[in-house]
Amino acid sequence: MENFVYLDNAATTPLDSRILQAMMPHFGALRGNPSSLHAAGASAREAVERAREEVAALISASPREIVFTSGGTEADNLALLGLARSAPPERRHAVVSKVEHPAVREAAKHLKEGGFEVTWVGTDGFGVVDPAEFEAALRDDTAFAAVMWANNEVGSVQPVEELAGLCAAKGVPFHSDAVQAAGRVRIDVDETPVSTLALSAHKLYGPQGVGALFVREGVEVSPLVFGGGQEGGLRSGTEDVAGIAGFGEAARLAREEFEERVTRETSLRDVVMDLTAMGGVRLNGHPERRLSNNVHLTVEGAEAESLVLMLDALGYAIGKGSACSSSGHKASPVLEAMGQGEREAFSAVRVSVGKDNTGAEVSSFIEAFTGAVERLRELSPLQASR
Ligand code: PLP
Repeated sequence: MENFVYLDNAATTPLDSRILQAMMPHFGALRGNPSSLHAAGASAREAVERAREEVAALISASPREIVFTSGGTEADNLALLGLARSAPPERRHAVVSKVEHPAVREAAKHLKEGGFEVTWVGTDGFGVVDPAEFEAALRDDTAFAAVMWANNEVGSVQPVEELAGLCAAKGVPFHSDAVQAAGRVRIDVDETPVSTLALSAHKLYGPQGVGALFVREGVEVSPLVFGGGQEGGLRSGTEDVAGIAGFGEAARLAREEFEERVTRETSLRDVVMDLTAMGGVRLNGHPERRLSNNVHLTVEGAEAESLVLMLDALGYAIGKGSACSSSGHKASPVLEAMGQGEREAFSAVRVSVGKDNTGAEVSSFIEAFTGAVERLRELSPLQASR
């Protein structure tokens, strides 16, 4: 499409051509199974292990602590269900934040249906978990706790170091979903005592359908998928060699280009954030403790879906700010946890910049956004009732 400006990088990032190049050899006719003994198998194994080293290096882990999965969702599910199943039988309680991605939230609800008790920890108005409230929720029978590193909707970065430290002091395994944070926030598992941590390649300019779970050495996690015992028995099934090779390259580039990307994204993000100078446009999430690529706005008098579609017609891709459940028009629990009403949630949009966006793209977007909001406000019945 001519004049297509992609500003929905929190949903997925474009595939970097360097990463595609790294994947291509593994689509060849002679691709091997990493479990095979012959040369084709050995070369596939080598690619998988090289990628494991790169993914480990992104978070300062050991390659032995990386389990490849089919994405962030599976990594989160493996962590929650796996930690729950391997916990001693008297530990049937979990502490989970109210602002988790559905991959964590729904896994926790599933455990609840199976007899687990879940304490849902809230946030302040910026979507940040209060360590004192979190600590008070931990009990002697807590099997695990889960708080994401950074929120996918409003972009707030959680005090994960502190929360993980509180859990470590009490011997409670702690999971963090770092799918949005990796490559945008420095993550060092030597400094932050997380037990497990979820990653996804497609938020890092890599392929969709590939992710990883970091499982700290010594932490017990039961598998969800049974079979040939690949990935140290934690994720059976022939590895997606091309996808994993792409993830490895994505992790390498994210580590090497970290400063450059964060600096660029932050400066573009701040320009978009200046849209709050418009009347009736408000920033959600923490103003400083936020992802370098995320701007989440409530636009009074405009309905998010109409705004997204109007901008799409003009060649700008942004996201709806409140991910609705597939079952219908329900606002996401994230804004609700932050104390906002359902009505506000339907006027929220998410603009997420990426490493390849330019200043010119963002300037033209600002103009298009301003015009679209004005037009919608003229048309909108919501505006009349403001
Ligand atoms: N966790 C967070 C915070 C996310 O943003 C996403 C993707 O939107 C996921 C988990 C799920 O990852 P995947 O799409 O790789 O399954």
